[in-house]
Amino acid sequence: MKRDLPYVVRQAQIKARTDNSLKEILFSYMRKISEFKENQEKIKYVREELDKLLEEESKGTACEKGCHYCCFHPIAVSEIEMNDILKDFPRVDKDRLKAQKSLFLDYKEIKYEDRACVFLENGECSIYEKRPIVCRLTHVKSEPKNCHFENDQENVEHLPVLKSSLLVGAYYMGHPEIDLIPNLINHSE
Ligand code: SF4
Repeated sequence: MKRDLPYVVRQAQIKARTDNSLKEILFSYMRKISEFKENQEKIKYVREELDKLLEEESKGTACEKGCHYCCFHPIAVSEIEMNDILKDFPRVDKDRLKAQKSLFLDYKEIKYEDRACVFLENGECSIYEKRPIVCRLTHVKSEPKNCHFENDQENVEHLPVLKSSLLVGAYYMGHPEIDLIPNLINHSE
């Protein structure tokens, strides 16, 4: 199932339509990513480049260490990322996985605790070094508590990490098969 690109990525792409310097940055990332033959190499490049860019671009973030409100929101990943993650981290919270599959596939209401990402363990990301690129990209300027799932998301102000968003947009242009994390995990009970 195809999912929408993250908000900041869409905003960066809209800006690039009318700004030639941003357009050139987007195209240069597309060219660079296409140079890698293997999908593993592509995702490795995107993760490393993204972390470098965000060292600068995430200055001014209101996100705090230990905060994990965003881990209660549905996270979309490419199938390639998900396979790469599961290769090294095959263990997920199966109860949460089952609950989230019923939420996303059958629209059944589930408990707040069950909305936590299946990789969140004791308030920490258990796959931190391989966490999805969307998780790396997400930074806010507004109060972290605004990101709480049950709060009005209109009050969440994203940090416009422009180059990072163009990089992620360039990667997703070649990999449109993105979906929510639980939909890409097939664990038999
Ligand atoms: S992969 Fe890690 S950072 Fe991303 S939502 Fe899950 S627990 Fe949070």
